[in-house]
Amino acid sequence: MSTSVPLIVRLLASSVSVAGRAGKIVRDVMSKGELGIVEKGKNDYQTEADRSAQRCIIASLSSQYPKLNIIGEEDSPSVEGEIPSDWIVVETDSDVLKLECPSNLLGVKEENVVVWVDPLDGTAEYTQGFLEHVTVLIGISVNEKPVAGVIHQPYFKTMNGEEKRMGRTIWGLQGAGVGGFTPAPPPTSLIITTTRSHSNPIVEKALQVMNASQILRVGGAGYKVLQLLEGVASIYVFASPGCKKWDTCAPEAILTATGGKLTDVVGNGYKYGADEPRPNKTGVLAAVNEDLHNYALSRIPQELKDKLANKL
Ligand code: AMP
Ligand code: MG
Ligand code: MG
Repeated sequence: MSTSVPLIVRLLASSVSVAGRAGKIVRDVMSKGELGIVEKGKNDYQTEADRSAQRCIIASLSSQYPKLNIIGEEDSPSVEGEIPSDWIVVETDSDVLKLECPSNLLGVKEENVVVWVDPLDGTAEYTQGFLEHVTVLIGISVNEKPVAGVIHQPYFKTMNGEEKRMGRTIWGLQGAGVGGFTPAPPPTSLIITTTRSHSNPIVEKALQVMNASQILRVGGAGYKVLQLLEGVASIYVFASPGCKKWDTCAPEAILTATGGKLTDVVGNGYKYGADEPRPNKTGVLAAVNEDLHNYALSRIPQELKDKLANKL
């Protein structure tokens, strides 16, 4: 690999490769059938797949980019023994390596980057057998902004039902492009995507006001943004503090690279610096374009916005 390739492009190419390896871990844990479920909080679970996939991603990236600040969802237990050598991925995706780095990112150094890792997004769905909803998320942020990201889907079926044994990997770099999927225009009627396992009365209120023709309840922030990218839905609404920075960093980077927008339900963007609080306290509102984002923002009652922002 040539070191003349700018850091952000190399890091994205590495992230694409390692996300695929983490996805294989996710499939292997499921096929062995011993999920090792731990309850982290109310309606918040971790499995052996979450733990192992995170170790694979962090070990692989930190071995090649030692100065990166990598923040993963799962707490790393102090003693866990050796990492299997085949979990350390040093390959880089050859298509991504060919990307032309946008000029504003040319000079970025490892120490300027914060990487947000959700080794398995959609754990509830993973344990319940909704496997297509599961994704591996690696988000790359610079100066607090998400600039590149990877959404890997370990279980993926094509439109005609053909199962892809290795899953698929979607990536994006702002100012350079996206890959791994076929971008599609939004549906002609208003289709909203939202949580299927973390709803509450405020989440439902924010959905009711949208006047949608259909509400799709699916798991994971990664999978919901995939629905926006592929023209299945046009707005993602989640008026709850449940999502964290590792849920939104990669999806936001890719969505923004296609002209979409992700903010909280008040309309403010999240910052992805290492010291930022993990929870996306004021919810998630994402849309395939600025107009639909404005529409959704205008529909959400001020009282609900104030409630999430703790002003009431
Ligand atoms: P969902 O849309 O419910 O699949 O959630 C998207 C992401 O946010 C997943 O990683 C969830 O685990 C996380 N999340 C959302 N709501 C909550 C919650 N109430 N408690 C814990 N995690 C949550
Ligand atoms: Mg998640
Ligand atoms: Mg997770």
